[in-house]
Amino acid sequence: MPPDRASSPRAAPAEEGGRVAVLLPLPLAGAYDYAVPDGLVVGPGDYVMVPLGGARHVGIVWGPATGEVAAARLKPIERRYDVPPMPDVHRRFVERVAAYTVSPPGSVLRLSLGSSAALEPAAPGLVYRRSAQPVAAGDRVTPARARVLAVLEEGPAWALGDLARAAGVGNGVIHGLVELGLVEAVPVPGDRPPPIPDWRTPGPVLSSEQAAAAADLTSQQRDGRPGTVLLDGVTGSGKTEVYFEAIAACLAAGRQALVLVPEIALTGQWLDRFQRRFGVPPVEWHSEVASGDRRRNWRAVATGTARVVVGARSALFLPYADLGLIVVDEEHDGAFKQEDGVIYHGRDMAVLRGHLAGIPVVLASATPSLETVVNVDTGRYRMVHLPDRHGGASLPDIQVIDLRRHRPERQRWLAPPLVQALTDTLAAGEQSLLFLNRRGYAPLTLCRACGHRLECPSCTAWLVEHRLAGRLQCHHCGYSTALPRTCPACGEEDTLAACGPGVERLAEEVAARFPTARVELVASDTLTGPRAVEALVERVGRHEVDMLIGTQVVAKGHHFPMLTLVGVVDADLGLHGGDLRAGERTFQLLSQVAGRAGRAERPGVVYLQTIEPAHPVIQALARGDRDGFLEAEIDGRRQAHMPPFSRLAALILSSPAAADVDRAAQMLARAAPVDRDLTVLGPAPAPLSVLRGRHRRRFLVNAPRTAPLQAILRDWLARVRLPGSVRCQVDVDPYGF
Ligand code: ADP
Ligand code: ZN
Repeated sequence: MPPDRASSPRAAPAEEGGRVAVLLPLPLAGAYDYAVPDGLVVGPGDYVMVPLGGARHVGIVWGPATGEVAAARLKPIERRYDVPPMPDVHRRFVERVAAYTVSPPGSVLRLSLGSSAALEPAAPGLVYRRSAQPVAAGDRVTPARARVLAVLEEGPAWALGDLARAAGVGNGVIHGLVELGLVEAVPVPGDRPPPIPDWRTPGPVLSSEQAAAAADLTSQQRDGRPGTVLLDGVTGSGKTEVYFEAIAACLAAGRQALVLVPEIALTGQWLDRFQRRFGVPPVEWHSEVASGDRRRNWRAVATGTARVVVGARSALFLPYADLGLIVVDEEHDGAFKQEDGVIYHGRDMAVLRGHLAGIPVVLASATPSLETVVNVDTGRYRMVHLPDRHGGASLPDIQVIDLRRHRPERQRWLAPPLVQALTDTLAAGEQSLLFLNRRGYAPLTLCRACGHRLECPSCTAWLVEHRLAGRLQCHHCGYSTALPRTCPACGEEDTLAACGPGVERLAEEVAARFPTARVELVASDTLTGPRAVEALVERVGRHEVDMLIGTQVVAKGHHFPMLTLVGVVDADLGLHGGDLRAGERTFQLLSQVAGRAGRAERPGVVYLQTIEPAHPVIQALARGDRDGFLEAEIDGRRQAHMPPFSRLAALILSSPAAADVDRAAQMLARAAPVDRDLTVLGPAPAPLSVLRGRHRRRFLVNAPRTAPLQAILRDWLARVRLPGSVRCQVDVDPYGF
């Protein structure tokens, strides 16, 4: 890929009657030249519409023309949109992300563009309200008209569609009332800017440690010093309160702030806290935001009226008018890794964005990632530490239950000591949480007669039974089918048996053991969106629930003051599987789950059920020795020459035809870079060797930290022409392997 065409974002002065390069949100090698028609003035960063191959696209004026196409053959720019140009720093960000991830710059640009509707100012609308005119004797008030008038008593002004729906009438009835003069249509302007957060009213009184941490962050913000800071503190230590102070300082400087959170951690609780602190809601950006709001929010970000944005990793790519601060909350969370399309890590790209803009980046976590800890150790990042839980709440006591000594009964999953603890907690009128990171009823269904295992037709994965829904599901591709009565392999009837527990099955055991307890099941398929989580959190807060049974949805960021017992049903789940980060991730997840216990005055207890009580992760959890664990992990990585002490990338080839992907893999293998310092492993079947019907092969490249990894990958790929049916994805810093 020739990167040079897209590599000069600076500068071209406004062009008229000339030509410019325009970057399109498509996987092309670079920007293309277009003619600037007479009378149109465009400058770098402008949003324009251009023709390409019979279609029209919105693109960005990227810089001076490349001059590769004869003037006579240039197509003209068709229009320029009236939105602020994409800032220079953002265009450099797009290019740097493309270079880092070995992706076409247009694919990265695509992440920054809103819908084309977002580029147009909102059309002014009409709202309908009751006029001052009283109902006269001669007015024909039909029952339908009466319903409209009744609805208008309830709210001051309604959009036409809403009013018609609320009254159960057609639009014509409303127009009729307008003609009569009983209802009036009032024009309202298009987009109203989001309300401005009130940063002047001080937040809560901070403890002295919190105040010191906040002073550190706010002074960096005030002085405009760039740099990444790890805000390290146990769950409940007040990290959120502290970074709110940094946001206030950013707002005081008149700049925009961005808070990135793992999607499922963006709870109503977080939004409420923000509102309490700043008086207004933040601007949200995640998959649940409705399309009209997306349009409005994108515009507000690009024009600078959105002052604080909270969102999932994709919010990083919005074209902020003047970004002054980025906070990455739960920075260790794997959800920041985007695994499709442009493969990137949201936290790392946030650090890059901060670096390019010369602004502070705050990474907050109770269990920071190993990479971040190493960056603190080597002085690349600063660290601000919050040692204690706020208000003196103590950290929970962690007990290990050795499942080899305390066996659950057959087809049961709770060991006697945990059952006893649940019984006591229930009797004391307190709440418990049982954690099992497995959705559905059972992870495996097999035939007792022939041993056949029910697998997904398009993935190398077992089908997971979801008994509540009466279905078998593939958790990788979404395939779903009714649970069969007969074995598809041997045809025997009633021989299919569920193996192992999911949360639904655990709920069955709990219901049998504690028939009077009020139990609530929480998994991502039973609970969707911040508001549903919010409703649950409220039910728990009002003590309408005695026991929660949940997957990792419950692990994140909620405060349950009456919750004093956490039982981790299978602490070993996720510890194995040859994944570089398996231990680290399990430690982080279980620490976070453990952090749900005993948040208020009541102390909490956590039980870990394990068959490997001596495993370093279990030991570290039991001792509460996070730093010792990290140190050992860091040593292990250093000795194995693994990241962050080396650089790693994966190439994943995939094709619907196994023969094609194998042929492509052999071609790449023959062209593989040869270098003393470089290790190229593969081709080997990728984890999930068939996914969504595509056969997958993988190469892993391990290079010294100083090696130009991206250039090596680009050169390698440029030497091979892969068959058309084969897709090649580059994953720099691969995550789950
Ligand atoms: P973390 O983000 O580290 O988990 P939070 O900021 O969420 O910690 O704080 C945990 C709880 O303690 C929250 O309910 C928060 O409102 C409360 N809290 C923290 N610091 C203070 C403070 N200085 N004054 C009042 N409440 C506080
Ligand atoms: Zn599947």
